[in-house]
Amino acid sequence: MYTGRFAPSPTGPLHFGSLIAAVASYCEAKSHQGNWLVRMEDLDKPREIPGAATTILQQLEKFGFEWDGAILYQSQRVEAYAAALDQLKQNNLVYPCTCTRKEIADSTSSLGIEGLIYPGTCLRQPLKQQSTLAWRIKTPDRVITFHDAIQGDISQNLQHDIGDFILKRADGLFAYQLAVIVDDAEQGITHVVRGADLLNSTPRQIFLQQTLHYPIPTYAHVPVAANAAGEKLSKQTLAQPIHIKNCADLLFHALQFLGQNPPESLQSEAKHIIWQWAFANWQLHKVPAIKSKSA
Ligand SMILES: [Zn+2]
Repeated sequence: MYTGRFAPSPTGPLHFGSLIAAVASYCEAKSHQGNWLVRMEDLDKPREIPGAATTILQQLEKFGFEWDGAILYQSQRVEAYAAALDQLKQNNLVYPCTCTRKEIADSTSSLGIEGLIYPGTCLRQPLKQQSTLAWRIKTPDRVITFHDAIQGDISQNLQHDIGDFILKRADGLFAYQLAVIVDDAEQGITHVVRGADLLNSTPRQIFLQQTLHYPIPTYAHVPVAANAAGEKLSKQTLAQPIHIKNCADLLFHALQFLGQNPPESLQSEAKHIIWQWAFANWQLHKVPAIKSKSA
């Protein structure tokens, strides 16, 4: 059964960029008669805005999104993430790290896609005596390739492009990369449709899925409003939380942004008419690709 999902972080209300990801994943699931789940990625409590999770769900409801099953809250899943990390510990695939940002910056100049590549200091030296440890996974020196349904073939050598990345932070928070794959497996997600800002994360997630023997979903990364070539939306449009009054209009523009060419006559219609058109006419292959810096 096709199972898709939308996984917002409650760091603020939905904005046009997150609406794009929601619309794309929803239309793709609906056009496959699939399930569409909502997961609240509220793991990073320090970054969370109080009330934002509720606001997002209310916004989704006002737009007419209907999700299947109960909402999964990452904040309630810490035991599952710990179990996955334990499995990696038992297999000697992760190691503790006590390095500070500054120590890493002072010890290497090797740059990857997302900044400095961790030089493996804590693999070679005895750990400093301290109570807080981060956990890093040993990355392999091999190319991980996947076919993205929108962006095409993507390859990364994790050791050279990313380096040994953190699964659990020194402050005790589990990293997004671990949490997301544990939850995708738990929820039986078969298709991930999300913003292209996460394209660079996907090889890490596939590597973790391979290592933990989880199924690997199909991936499709939709362009991010801010990055799409020739589709530059004003800063103001992006920064503003979306207004519920404009539901139908925003929906129309989201479909337009996603390359679906909704007819102009649809623009003045009510949102349920727009949804009807979207489900009947949605075609993933019409979604424009973006140029990724790294891939
Ligand atoms: Zn270290």
